[in-house]
Amino acid sequence: MRKFSILLLILLTACASLLPQPAATRISPALTIRTHPDGALYVGDLVSFEAYNPVAAQPLSNSLRISLAGKTLAEQPFNQFGMGARSQATFYWAWDTHALQPGDYILTFTLLPSGVHWDQKISLLPAAQLPAAQAGAHWASVETACCTLHYITGTDAEKDLDALKRMLDAQAADVARRMGTQYKGKVPVTYLPRTLGHGGFTSDGIYVSYLHQNYAGGTAQQVTHHELVHWLDGQLGGNLRPSMLQEGLAVYMSDGHFKVEPIVPRAAALIDLNLYIPLRKLADTFYFSQHEASYAEAAALISYIISTYGQDGFNTFYRDIRPAKSGSQADALDAALQAHFGMNLDTFEAKFSAFLRQQPADAAARTDMRLTVAFYDTVRRYQREMDPSAYFLYTWLPDVATMRQRGIVADFLRHPDGLLNSQIENLLVSGDAALRAADYNGVESKINTVNLLLDLRSRFGG
Ligand SMILES: [Zn+2]
Repeated sequence: MRKFSILLLILLTACASLLPQPAATRISPALTIRTHPDGALYVGDLVSFEAYNPVAAQPLSNSLRISLAGKTLAEQPFNQFGMGARSQATFYWAWDTHALQPGDYILTFTLLPSGVHWDQKISLLPAAQLPAAQAGAHWASVETACCTLHYITGTDAEKDLDALKRMLDAQAADVARRMGTQYKGKVPVTYLPRTLGHGGFTSDGIYVSYLHQNYAGGTAQQVTHHELVHWLDGQLGGNLRPSMLQEGLAVYMSDGHFKVEPIVPRAAALIDLNLYIPLRKLADTFYFSQHEASYAEAAALISYIISTYGQDGFNTFYRDIRPAKSGSQADALDAALQAHFGMNLDTFEAKFSAFLRQQPADAAARTDMRLTVAFYDTVRRYQREMDPSAYFLYTWLPDVATMRQRGIVADFLRHPDGLLNSQIENLLVSGDAALRAADYNGVESKINTVNLLLDLRSRFGG
């Protein structure tokens, strides 16, 4: 990056408090209220609310009521929300603003049963000010050989629809071949026009971020392949499929995590980089361990099992893992390893780590692994601090079938779009491109600049 651009960015950061910020208000030290869609609200929006304590997992109260002019809009209990399980009262599309005039509205929030309450002003902009691209956007679907593909009109998915359909069918065929099974019916696949988490989820369907400016990197092709492995893995079933093995299988079967990359050399590099996670710990805290190290190690573990026992041997073992009484996935794994391979988890790990240590040193894999970790740690830091709806532990991913049914698109079309957001996202997009091109100096400089900007923003407020 040229020097004047960095100076400009630092100046912008110092002015961060003047820029549009994510729609969150700290009411008291104990409660944060976030509204959705992100950013400014317009007449016609169906407004959702998240109310949570950012520093505690305990319920703040039994429930929270939101009212307007003495009339209750909704009341919701505090429950665990997201993968991070924070205590939160969640109000999906609780405030219908279609019939309202633009202007300021005073909403009252009341904790129950205590009755503690406070007011908060929320402003609605005229519907006419909604960006034109969003005003006419709606859900659409198209059938492909493998899948029902859902998208929102006017987005990059629609612009690239023909190529996207071909890509999806090609990935689906490859996954079916590699997993040795066929799809039972069409797979529901939704391409979202917003970066969310690391770009892909599988639950009642497959959800993949598809936008040209996807700051979380990862090609749609690679992520689609990964999620389709999860889909067929779920279809093949089992008793308990530990998270570590599910994710390892998806990376292994996709020849890499965010890109095609050498599985075993990258995991071997983790030992050198002091990022190797003992298997017992990894099995029990998979999604809370360092993300990229976890996935790389889990993929190498699958590679090791399949190369030692064959794919049939792996499947017989994997699909027969049963929950342990303790609830620990490591204990479940330990029992299944003994039953199928005649060794406990400690013995198995000794063999696996010896296998990794025997790998020849691979300087490129080591550098790539180190910078992949640094890049995605930076992406997640940006999400936590400036795009919290996208942060993977608390992603804002409402029920998409309901959204389609009710014609709701704004939750996915809007995201924080301040100047600093755009600048950082541009840096991340070019950092990802540099990482893919093995331009390691390039990606390192982008990572450093983003972290500097985030440091300055937190120092100067915003
Ligand atoms: Zn996955």
